[in-house]
Amino acid sequence: MTVSDQLFERAKQLIPGGVNSPVRAFRSVGGAPFFVKAAHGAKLTTADGRELIDFVCTWGPAILGHNHPKIRAAVAEALDRGTSFGIPNPYEVEMAELIVRFVPSIQKVRMCNSGTEATMSAIRLARGFTRRDKIVKFAGCYHGHSDSLLIKAGSGALTHGNPDSAGVPASFARETIVVAYNDRAALEAAFAANPGQIAGVIVEPFCGNCGFIMPDAGYLQFLREITAKHGTVLIFDEVMTGFRIARGGVQEREQITPDLTCLGKIIGGGLPVGAFGGRAEIMDQLAPLGPVYQAGTLSGNPLAMAAGIAGLKLLEELNPYAQLDRLGRQLKDAVLAAARAKGIPVQVPQCGSMFSIFFSATPVRDFATALQGDAKVFNRFFHACLDRGVYLAPSAYEAGFLSTAHEGADIDRACEIFTESIRKL
Ligand SMILES: *Cc1c(COP(=O)(O)O)cnc(C)c1O
Repeated sequence: MTVSDQLFERAKQLIPGGVNSPVRAFRSVGGAPFFVKAAHGAKLTTADGRELIDFVCTWGPAILGHNHPKIRAAVAEALDRGTSFGIPNPYEVEMAELIVRFVPSIQKVRMCNSGTEATMSAIRLARGFTRRDKIVKFAGCYHGHSDSLLIKAGSGALTHGNPDSAGVPASFARETIVVAYNDRAALEAAFAANPGQIAGVIVEPFCGNCGFIMPDAGYLQFLREITAKHGTVLIFDEVMTGFRIARGGVQEREQITPDLTCLGKIIGGGLPVGAFGGRAEIMDQLAPLGPVYQAGTLSGNPLAMAAGIAGLKLLEELNPYAQLDRLGRQLKDAVLAAARAKGIPVQVPQCGSMFSIFFSATPVRDFATALQGDAKVFNRFFHACLDRGVYLAPSAYEAGFLSTAHEGADIDRACEIFTESIRKL
């Protein structure tokens, strides 16, 4: 028995499914998860001492590679001063200044502890601001696991064939309207059927939670226009795309100004953080200024702020987005060429450091077409890659992530492994 297998046996006795977040359990791809004892740069070291080239990057945060020396030094320096104060600290101000400077639409920002908290709070704020109850989300988009948003959700919920969770009261679910991504008519119909009732539309502007899916040309502009017309708050959930697709997120790249933006993942530099921000007029509805309550014992935690600040400053200094896109294309081209040679249909949507591999002849533009990807073929591909030393997300419906640390030998080796794994399918 491997060390990982032994740990998993012990974990299963005490932790439901042996994991603290469901996708990690490998239920979708089969087999048992490996445990990791260390991570540096582009590589994970398993509890059994294997080295794996990692395209999960802790589900997005590690855009600079794992355990970047500058982030580690910043955390160590903060640690000298204490781990939590429960009263404002200087890092919070610096973090807010960085976020407001980088993300075009954010005038004011509130820190919290996870992406789930960010989206949950943004929804409450949209409801409090508009005095309306209904929200619109898109099938396959995942916005964390709060009740209103865990409906037709992607990511782990989808991987486990259960995009609608048990335990969400039907009365809550009725306040959430789900429409197809990239479908203009469906959203127009939702507005027509619920006049004056829709508080907010929440969207992953580039979808990363049922695989990676890009919007059709003009679609995000359409979302901006239709929400403005109806006095509805447009919420970009950039927990995954923020500081990844561009320094200022999808909104900077596509030049769309949402009313509220949710952040997480990269802004914590690998520590647990979330944030939401936007127009000052809306943000000032939050307590203590306004009637919308939101709070957190560890919000603005000095260690997490120090890690995040160091990461954001490095992103500014390095401006790695052209480099990341080059790496992404290299990987995409390798997969396309191998699949063509083998005669296997494949779709590889990619932008910058995000990509997905769908074994499908149909271009993927929404939840329904994502599901047409052949998960059985993906699972064989996943294990073939893992056997050869490349770790992809353990599900056909998750995005892949690159970091600046993948540059060089690691990306070349990964492309060889993708090619070999496809040849063996
Ligand atoms: C990961 C993610 C979340 C949830 O963030 P957690 O920190 O896991 O709670 C929300 N929205 C999107 C788009 C995400 O990718």
